[in-house]
Amino acid sequence: MSRVVYVNGRFVPHGQAAVHVEDRGYQLADGVYEVWAVLGGKLADASGHFERLARSLSELSITPPMERAPLEVLLRETIRRNHVREGLVYLQVTRGVAPRDHAFPAPHTPPSVVITAKRVDRAAADARAERGGAVITVPENRWGRCDIKTVGLLPNVLAKQKARAAGAVEAWFVDELGLVTEGASSNAWIIDKTGVLRTRDTQANILRGVTRKTLLQILAREGMRIEERPFTLEEAREAKEAFITGAGTLLLPVVSIDGKPIGGGTVGPVAKRLRRLYIEEARRTAV
Ligand code: PLP
Repeated sequence: MSRVVYVNGRFVPHGQAAVHVEDRGYQLADGVYEVWAVLGGKLADASGHFERLARSLSELSITPPMERAPLEVLLRETIRRNHVREGLVYLQVTRGVAPRDHAFPAPHTPPSVVITAKRVDRAAADARAERGGAVITVPENRWGRCDIKTVGLLPNVLAKQKARAAGAVEAWFVDELGLVTEGASSNAWIIDKTGVLRTRDTQANILRGVTRKTLLQILAREGMRIEERPFTLEEAREAKEAFITGAGTLLLPVVSIDGKPIGGGTVGPVAKRLRRLYIEEARRTAV
C-alpha cells in the first residue's frame, strides 16, 4: 500500500516527498525531531513527546512551526492516511530553507516540517523481546547537548551500525569515567547485583527519554527500588538484568553486553514484567 508523507503543508506520495537542497536540516543538521510510538492507532506518551519537542526547539531558538493542537491533527492525519495501527510517527522540524551559512537565516524564515508514519510488526517485536537482544559498547564521542533531540546523529549512526554488524540490537555509549551514558537510540537500564534498578540521571549528558519517564512513574507506583544514578560498564556486566527503553523498542531486555551474558544470558523476569507493565500503561494512556 502506498505511503504518504506530510511535507511543509502538503501530503505527498512517499516517493515524491522532498525538501529543498538548502534546507538547513539537510545542509547543517540544524533541526530537531520527535518519535511517538503508535499503539492501537493512538499516540503513546503524547504529552511527554510534545513537551520535549517544545524544549528542543526552544533550546535551539527554532520557531515552533505551529501550536500543539494543529500539529497533533497533522500527526493523526499522517497516521490515518498510512493506515498505521501499530507503528511509529516521526516529526522533523528544521530551521528552514536559506542560502547556506552557518549563522541563523533571516528572522521569519519558516521552519520546515516533515511527518512520516510507518508500521511496526508488533508480533515480531514481541517475539524479539521474548528472546532479548545483545548490546555492544562504544566510547562516548557526542557533543555536550545530548538532551536536545537534534537530527545531528552521526555518532549514533556509527554506533548503531557497529552494533548491527556485531548482530547486536543496540550500542551503549561509555564515557571517559567508564560510566554508561545511554544507547544510540534508547536509554540504558540495569538491575544491579543488589537488586536495585539503575538508570542514568538526567543531569547527565543524555536524552531525557519519555519512555524512561513513564517507566519511572510505573516503578514508583509498583514500589520498586530505583536509583537514577550512573552505573559503570563493570556494574552492567555484573548486573542481574539489563534492558533498554525508547519509543522504537518500548522496553527491550538485554541478554549480553560485548558478548558476555547478563544474568543467565536469557531474558530476566523483572525486565519481562516491566515490558508488559509499560506497554499496558502506554496503551491505557495513549490518545
Ligand atoms: N536516547 C537516545 C539517544 C534516543 O535517540 C532515544 C530515542 O530515540 C532515547 C534515548 C529514548 O527516548 P524516548 O523514550 O523518548 O523515545
